[in-house]
Amino acid sequence: MYGKQQEIIEKINPRALISNWKNWKWQLKHCIRDISTFENLTGIKFEKSERKLLEKTIAKFPLSITPYYLSLIDTDDYRNDPFFKQSFPSPMELIVDKYEMKDPLAEDKDSPVPGIIHRYPDRVLFHISNICSMYCRHCTRKRKVGDVDSIPDRVEILKGIEYINNTPAIRDVLLSGGDPLMLSDDYLDWILTELRKIPHVEVIRIGTRMPVVLPYRITDELVAVLKKHHPIWVNTHFNHPRAITESSKEALKKLADAGIPLGNQSVLLAGVNDCPRIMKKLVHKLVQNRVRPYYLYQCDLSEGLSHFRTPVGKGIEIMESLIGHTSGFAVPTYVIDAPGGGGKIPVMPNYLISWSTNKVVLRNYEGIITTYKEPDSYEPVFCDRNCQDCKLQLKLNEAEEKIKAVGVAKLLDDFDDTISLIPENTDRMERRADRRDDE
Ligand SMILES: *Cc1c(COP(=O)(O)O)cnc(C)c1O
Ligand code: SF4
Repeated sequence: MYGKQQEIIEKINPRALISNWKNWKWQLKHCIRDISTFENLTGIKFEKSERKLLEKTIAKFPLSITPYYLSLIDTDDYRNDPFFKQSFPSPMELIVDKYEMKDPLAEDKDSPVPGIIHRYPDRVLFHISNICSMYCRHCTRKRKVGDVDSIPDRVEILKGIEYINNTPAIRDVLLSGGDPLMLSDDYLDWILTELRKIPHVEVIRIGTRMPVVLPYRITDELVAVLKKHHPIWVNTHFNHPRAITESSKEALKKLADAGIPLGNQSVLLAGVNDCPRIMKKLVHKLVQNRVRPYYLYQCDLSEGLSHFRTPVGKGIEIMESLIGHTSGFAVPTYVIDAPGGGGKIPVMPNYLISWSTNKVVLRNYEGIITTYKEPDSYEPVFCDRNCQDCKLQLKLNEAEEKIKAVGVAKLLDDFDDTISLIPENTDRMERRADRRDDE
């Protein structure tokens, strides 16, 4: 690896040193943003016809690869290389399938103020940057990132902060982007300071791909800033075990040593990591570096990603190969982010085979079929949602009292009379409404 870095450094600037290479600002300044530079630095050459398509692709979705990430690409077999596939444009991105969408997760609909997505009751996504050091070709937010006109300034950020301040139910703020760590240490420090002034914000999370694509961004200075605002959680985005290099290990160590719990969100990508053995290797390397595998995402229905998608069955096969076969904390939750804005839906193999009134039949990872005997008598706590008088002695604050029961959990509650959830806009429901109007 070192040899390759040296080669790239020399091509970028013969006078540059390894200390330049490890400087994140130097890396940013020398990001590869066009095909010719890519060709010069890697020695790979594209045919004229392919080049034309590549130019067309990057006119639609911008290209940016950090020199560090470029050095991970195996130039001898680049067509099969997981880093090439994640960073270098493919003409396949120009193909837009009928079922694909610009905003598959309907984030715009759940956005009360620019930059904020408030989908779940107690937490928000807060986009504080629209730029990244490297643009992942499989990015869900392709339509937003790289749009240089929309880097939020302090006034815009303050609007988001004001929304959070005025919404006491929000206890968890996820700083996302783009990549939040594209901002300067001072700007981040300011945002974190403002958020920490809000008493109901309990945790702050940062979603960043820097440990993977530009590990030198994790400096002692940055870590000192983050540490001031604990509890801070960081989620990163490793997709392939080979991305866990000495440099990224160092970055993860700095974060973990600062007391920041680390998580990883992978995306299941055809030709990159759609293999149970690769995934097992990845999760093992993650936990060795104190990173807890958090989510494995089914690839979203964003435009131009059809060549990256796998059937859901591939994800379930991977989960089957992990659950029970390795440490519980090394197993991520496999989720499909519901098209239309339903949020993340977990999916996994079935372990519950059958059920009677006092017995459950289950199977384990080895195929053993077993029974679990349920209690013959169980005295449930009748719940009227009056927690002050409940014998379970829970003390709630006002914001928590106000959060409404939702979904199937609501159907299960004692205190709610709802007996069914009924879809709107069916013919039958419209007939019912018409009849009510007649009465
Ligand atoms: C993923 C996501 C969250 C966080 O979900 P968790 O399951 O708590 O990690 C919050 N808001 C939006 C809009 C999201 O997409
Ligand atoms: S929600 Fe409150 S009242 Fe209901 S069981 Fe829990 S603590 Fe008791």
